[in-house]
Amino acid sequence: MVDSLKDNNHVGVILTGGEPTLYEDLPKLIKYCIKKKMFPRIITNGQRIADRVYLKTLLDAGLKQLNLSVYSYRDNVQAKTSGNKNSLKNIKQALEHLKKDATKMSININIAISKYNADHLSKTVTWLTKDYDFLRHFVFNNLDPLMNRASENPDVVPRLNDFELELHQALKILQKHKKTFRVERVPLCYLTDFEHVTTETRKIVKNEDRTVYYLDKRGERTQKSWRNKKSACCRHCFLDKICAGLHTSGTYYDEKELYPVFVDPQKIINKILSTEK
Ligand code: SF4
Repeated sequence: MVDSLKDNNHVGVILTGGEPTLYEDLPKLIKYCIKKKMFPRIITNGQRIADRVYLKTLLDAGLKQLNLSVYSYRDNVQAKTSGNKNSLKNIKQALEHLKKDATKMSININIAISKYNADHLSKTVTWLTKDYDFLRHFVFNNLDPLMNRASENPDVVPRLNDFELELHQALKILQKHKKTFRVERVPLCYLTDFEHVTTETRKIVKNEDRTVYYLDKRGERTQKSWRNKKSACCRHCFLDKICAGLHTSGTYYDEKELYPVFVDPQKIINKILSTEK
């Protein structure tokens, strides 16, 4: 699969899951990616890398970038969302190890927004920026109900209104601390001031695609379109052409929450084109 991606002119690979550290040959795979000059990074729940010896095998294999998934600074929310009562304890342990290896590796934080952490995103970010200054980049993913256990537990799906103000506050804190950040699956009408940080809008503006290899029968899929179903109000919105709209609109998310905005899209496009990462 790595060879095929390389042949198709890709330059990096994100090893995600499920949980990539459950794959016994992960260190070998990382080494192979590096040999092929396919920059590898992993997205992990941080449980296995709480073990310093295991983390060292990934470092020795040459891993230079790791995204750590965190839901909340609150023990009960982290435990409920991950289904693991030791989750936050292990994440803190992993972060302490990573602190020591911060010069060898770039460590990013992924936060999936759910009904249960939506009201304290800024407090989670405050904890992370205060205790772990070496963290440089943060990614917020609005929950994808079609992935993993979310579709079986629809109560975790937030309304956009549940997190709008908290997300804005969290991004302001990150901006103040000079961190970089991205947001996924949030329509632009819920990202005032930060429209340029949405992954989908950046892909639309830059005309980029993304290839995913699923290990099930779906196989290789290349995503070229970043637009979801739009609502009638989107036709009046100035940002319609650069906005991906609302993911799973009409099933898990409600299009009635959308509203047209009347800001100049060119300003957002210019910001995107002027920031490379
Ligand atoms: S109204 Fe529609 S097009 Fe406009 S920002 Fe919201 S989702 Fe995007």
